[in-house]
Amino acid sequence: MYKWYLILFFLLNYKGYSQAQEIAHLTNLEEVSKNFTFDIKYATENNFLEKKIYDCSKCLLLPKVADALIAANNYFCEFGYQIKLYDCYRPLSAQKVMWEIFPNAMYVANPYRNKSVHNRAAAVDLTLVDFDGCELDMGTTYDFFGKEAHQDNFNLPEAVLQNRKLLREGMKKFGFNPIRTEWWHYDFTNAYSFPVLNSLFDCD
Ligand SMILES: [Zn+2]
Repeated sequence: MYKWYLILFFLLNYKGYSQAQEIAHLTNLEEVSKNFTFDIKYATENNFLEKKIYDCSKCLLLPKVADALIAANNYFCEFGYQIKLYDCYRPLSAQKVMWEIFPNAMYVANPYRNKSVHNRAAAVDLTLVDFDGCELDMGTTYDFFGKEAHQDNFNLPEAVLQNRKLLREGMKKFGFNPIRTEWWHYDFTNAYSFPVLNSLFDCD
């Protein structure tokens, strides 16, 4: 009987070990640059689900995605702005929680089909802030699900259109592509070629 406890103990620990290994190669953006602002919404209840999905606030990305984002941030700094991040890597299990609450494929990627690029640590949700930390007016709040948030909606004040254009053009220069329905979301080049990950954040 004792032997089986030992095997069970080993298996449980091995699972934890392999989970940690799965995301060990990701870059923790906060550790490599002090020039970003972070407001990881799913680590709080201040999100469209009104539910805390992550155990802690972290921005983990594939190393090449993090490098490109640092380059983009340097570019925006020349204009007097800085990137503020709302979401980065999202474990597949968190995607399933979102889908259970809000199963609308226009705004939440189906975790049982093509999954989200956030699950691949190759997508970012972000906006721009000035050096006082004030967000630029992008016309809607983060995770506003409606046509006002769409990239192809030009029925918005000129200043909003200019702010979105600045963000879009800057991000594109560094390999990030917008999606039609969310002004805040950018996928890195070849985003769907990267593997889906499911390890939870190491919050220690
Ligand atoms: Zn997103």
